[in-house]
Amino acid sequence: MTKSRSSIDTQLIHAGEIRPGIEGAVALPIFQSANFESAEGEDYHDIKYMRLSNSPNHQVLAAKLAKLESAEAALVTASGMAAITTIFHSLLSTGDHVIFQDCLYGGTYDYARREFARHGLTCDFVDGERPDTWAGQLRPETRMIYVEAITNPLVGVADLEAVVAFADEHGLISVIDNTFASPVNFRPAEIGFDLSVHSGTKYLNGHSDIVCGAVIGRADLVGDVKHMLSYLGGSLDAHACFLLHRGLKTLGVRVRQQNASALELARALEANAEVARVNYPGLPSNSGHDRAAKLFDGFGGMLSFELLGGAEAARRFAEAVTIPIVAPSLGGVESLVTLPATTSHAGLTKEERQEVGVADGLIRVSVGIEGTEDLVEDFGAALAAL
Ligand SMILES: *Cc1c(COP(=O)(O)O)cnc(C)c1O
Repeated sequence: MTKSRSSIDTQLIHAGEIRPGIEGAVALPIFQSANFESAEGEDYHDIKYMRLSNSPNHQVLAAKLAKLESAEAALVTASGMAAITTIFHSLLSTGDHVIFQDCLYGGTYDYARREFARHGLTCDFVDGERPDTWAGQLRPETRMIYVEAITNPLVGVADLEAVVAFADEHGLISVIDNTFASPVNFRPAEIGFDLSVHSGTKYLNGHSDIVCGAVIGRADLVGDVKHMLSYLGGSLDAHACFLLHRGLKTLGVRVRQQNASALELARALEANAEVARVNYPGLPSNSGHDRAAKLFDGFGGMLSFELLGGAEAARRFAEAVTIPIVAPSLGGVESLVTLPATTSHAGLTKEERQEVGVADGLIRVSVGIEGTEDLVEDFGAALAAL
């Protein structure tokens, strides 16, 4: 079932492309046109308009992304959050209930906690690694189960096969945020997920220069999301389409370099005396390791580690490393570090943070495509200077 890597690399370059190229152009030009001429015999539903996500730039991206995840259809959106919220608003109705994994991306979590009720939606949260507990949250009105391929910042991997089986058994729509894995490492449709969603801002584009999103999966569901997106307006601008398209072509080489460097770095950190623990799905010490080894083609470029010296040591480490930039977000070509206790999880109390496993000395790393040895050396030097 798993595709060979050469196949995804070829798809990244050629899938969905218009050939022969328009006027011979090797790269798809930017169709900077809000509206398009009507053709003979077309009716109102055939109108091409940028908000309807049907310009050539949108359509080529949709075809390519669907191919990359072995799915029926895809759609690009103005951001990852536009993709996520439009999924909720197109596939859920007043009274519906959603089962969420308990450690979600902050924007998704806040939206579910703060905004769902206003739309008559309810939700509960479950531990993604404990399928035996999920049925306890099931209600007659449960309509969707929503998880993430790799969680932030502890990089856990839920029992993803159990999610699909649970959704099938109970007639739920299964949705997975596949941002952290990327299609190079995991293609959710291949194990039966109905929909995969991405913050394309991260690995898909990979260059930290645009915000975009994607919905990939069953054609009927992607069609419903696309229809709602045309009302809500979260369509991707043509120039951002072009940049995403350009970035995507190198996804394979980028992600494999990131996979390799993250694994080396995780091993080096695990062997370092200053480090209390390392979270990385590629390490046998990780609770999701067996699942990741079975389902993923690579363990990803995200890792986190905890310093024995706590918050102060983490702060000094972030100051001492020279290659990574201290910045939020992830998935770009440059390595980034963040301190979750003072950034993404700063809104929680110390006790709440402890409960979700975010120690004050935790450092999250998005590994870039710099030289592996340079990164290992830089991290080692910063730890030695603590
Ligand atoms: C960044 C991110 C999002 C939100 O995407 P935007 O492009 O910032 O809207 C959603 N899910 C995950 C896992 C993310 O990392």
